[in-house]
Amino acid sequence: AAKKAGRNNVAAFIPAMLEELNKQVQLEAQLRDAMRTGLIEPYYQPFMDLGTRKLAGFEALARWKTAEGRFIPPCDFIPVAEDAGRIVELTEQLFRRACKDAMSWPSDTILSFNVSPTQLSDRLLGLRLLKIMGEVGLPVQRLEIEITESALIQDAAVAKEVLEDLTKAGIRIALDDFGTGYSSLSQLSNYQFQKIKIDRSFIQTFETSEKQDKVVRAMVALGHGLGVQVTAEGIEEPSQLQYLQELCCDLGQGYLLGRPQPNDEAIHFISSSIDVAV
Ligand code: C2E
Ligand code: MG
Ligand code: MG
Ligand code: MG
Repeated sequence: AAKKAGRNNVAAFIPAMLEELNKQVQLEAQLRDAMRTGLIEPYYQPFMDLGTRKLAGFEALARWKTAEGRFIPPCDFIPVAEDAGRIVELTEQLFRRACKDAMSWPSDTILSFNVSPTQLSDRLLGLRLLKIMGEVGLPVQRLEIEITESALIQDAAVAKEVLEDLTKAGIRIALDDFGTGYSSLSQLSNYQFQKIKIDRSFIQTFETSEKQDKVVRAMVALGHGLGVQVTAEGIEEPSQLQYLQELCCDLGQGYLLGRPQPNDEAIHFISSSIDVAV
């Protein structure tokens, strides 16, 4: 009887798996269309120098706007592109577009670009990015690559090589979502970073938790001790901004300072923030 029940469980599982597989196949087909018709584009979220309150750069965040006007978030389609073997092509498409857009900003404005853990196991990543920058004409000093800690665990040897390629070429590396991975501290001394980005989960809780407050202070001190810049992400409240300024956190990002926006709005943002500063 036990054997029979077991078999029935498997049988019951198959339709659900097929449905899942079907969904995946459909999504991959939609992704292919979206890439072909240019429906996936980078949006740009500003990050500000908290000392001078001036714009320091924009982070490119991929957006897929469907023909019906619905947005599919990157956490839903980046993994699909990876599974479908389309991530290299998608990244090149997004990166080329982002470099071109960055050419329309003031020449001291940084472009920050995210790469996922899977992409860091691509030995040619550095070369691919450098080739595109060369073609578009964006100087390497204007680029920063954001990686997460999990990227360094997946295929550590290759990741290290890729990061060294980028660093040698003069591209800065930022450690994203800092504090949420397993091995932050050992990674900090194993690799060369120029920036850590404190994950927004810390920024959004330190006001109500004394412990979180101590953790944020320690992270800022750690970054400064290592001689790297510290960015706080997810700033939504003026009180959070003020606190981070008091802590001498270098840079800030979040809805309070600016949302991810298409390039024409980013250009408008640049000119209006210059107006405010003058
Ligand atoms: P991330 O790099 O940590 O990006 C920050 C995420 O937080 C973005 O979500 C952004 O829209 C959101 N955010 C920014 N400020 C605030 C705030 O004040 N409050 C709240 N609640 N959220 C805020 P998004 O755009 O959905 O991106 C999610 C993740 O997807 C990114 O996390 C990044 O890891 C990844 N991603 C985005 N674009 C790309 C891409 O082109 N390539 C790759 N490989 N990954 C990407
Ligand atoms: Mg990021
Ligand atoms: Mg982040
Ligand atoms: Mg994050």
